[in-house]
Amino acid sequence: MTLPVLVLNSGSSSIKFSVYETANGEVAKLLEGAVDGIGSSALGKFWIQGADGVKLVDETPAIPDLETGFALVAGALAQPPFPQPAAIGHRMVCGGPTVTENQRITPELIEEMERYTAFAPLHTPTAIFIMRRAAELFPGVPNFVCLDSYFHRNLPEVTRQLPIPEPYAAMGVRRFGAHGLSYESIVSHLQRENPERFPSRLIVAHLGNGASISAIRGGRGVDTSMGLTPTGGLISGSRTGDIDPGVLLFLLRGLAARLPGTVAAADELEKIVSKQSGLLGVSGLTNDMRSLRAAIGEGNAAARLAVDEFCYVLRKFIGAYTAVLGGLDMLVFTGGIGENDAATRAEACAGLEDMGIILDLARNASRGEATISADGSPVTVRVIPPAEDLMIVGHVLRLMRN
Ligand code: ADP
Repeated sequence: MTLPVLVLNSGSSSIKFSVYETANGEVAKLLEGAVDGIGSSALGKFWIQGADGVKLVDETPAIPDLETGFALVAGALAQPPFPQPAAIGHRMVCGGPTVTENQRITPELIEEMERYTAFAPLHTPTAIFIMRRAAELFPGVPNFVCLDSYFHRNLPEVTRQLPIPEPYAAMGVRRFGAHGLSYESIVSHLQRENPERFPSRLIVAHLGNGASISAIRGGRGVDTSMGLTPTGGLISGSRTGDIDPGVLLFLLRGLAARLPGTVAAADELEKIVSKQSGLLGVSGLTNDMRSLRAAIGEGNAAARLAVDEFCYVLRKFIGAYTAVLGGLDMLVFTGGIGENDAATRAEACAGLEDMGIILDLARNASRGEATISADGSPVTVRVIPPAEDLMIVGHVLRLMRN
């Protein structure tokens, strides 16, 4: 019997989705798609393509809000040739301190997770909206939440606990990390590939629009760069990453003096650190690495500085996590930049030869999954695409069996 599983993965202005067919332990992708440009005054994009890459839907509708965006997805998937899902898996960045396990979604669970919207403010409101609408639009179909924070749930106390007074820690303020489904998928890829030679000291850098890096020992996360929220750690497309907290206080005082009330000032500060900073803030141009590389090619100095800062912070974290692990066996690059931008990989690893990280520049220039370290490099360096949706399908199937 086949069991179609719908995977929903929402960002602040997009909903990505895919349908997998599962039969007799085999999982195969049937289709994938996205609505992009939600809330924009310009036209958005809505597409669905089969596993063979052939476009089944390719439209540019106006998508003024989430309701419209999700109605497009649900409307299309409710009709033939698309199968009615037997289960739905939702990606969620963080469920808060009380929701740390992947599980079936109930109205009470949604309310519980909603209390911690501030822990992933760009992602959680959309995810919760979609969970509620999916329950209405696909009545009777079980919905499951799959958390990015799940991979990091057993971080050691020293990396989990933030250096703040206990009453605030008791409110749930601690390191949750993000991109956990990506990290899980890399660990599971390496375990499947060769369980005997699984790298005991592993660093994975997930470099997408949001960027994070994790130190993993024996398959278990021991540190990760994002903290309470996805704003911390590495520099991201439009987020600061780690920054002196004094900067936030300085900005907040300035904002509070001209805005009506603390909430308005905090909202504005949130916009600055999450949507206007990072690669976008430094370059003054774009959050998109591909466009930055093109601008660098044309001699744009601000774009060069933004990418230099990005690679510098990444290199610092690689060094720090090598120290955390007491040495390194494997470094994996993943995510849109990690997979596709050879220059970022080379620039981040430049000067790390004495730490055993030696790239082969010809291999680094190849496309797709590859080993990019030189023969004889003490650390193996690899590029492996993430498979978050497959991890979600795996969790959903396990939860349904239980
Ligand atoms: P998200 O976090 O939204 O899932 P992705 O993992 O798709 O993002 O990564 C998006 C980033 O990957 C963007 O900065 C984009 O420019 C970059 N990227 C994608 N393809 C390339 C490429 N060929 N060269 C350089 N950067 C690329």
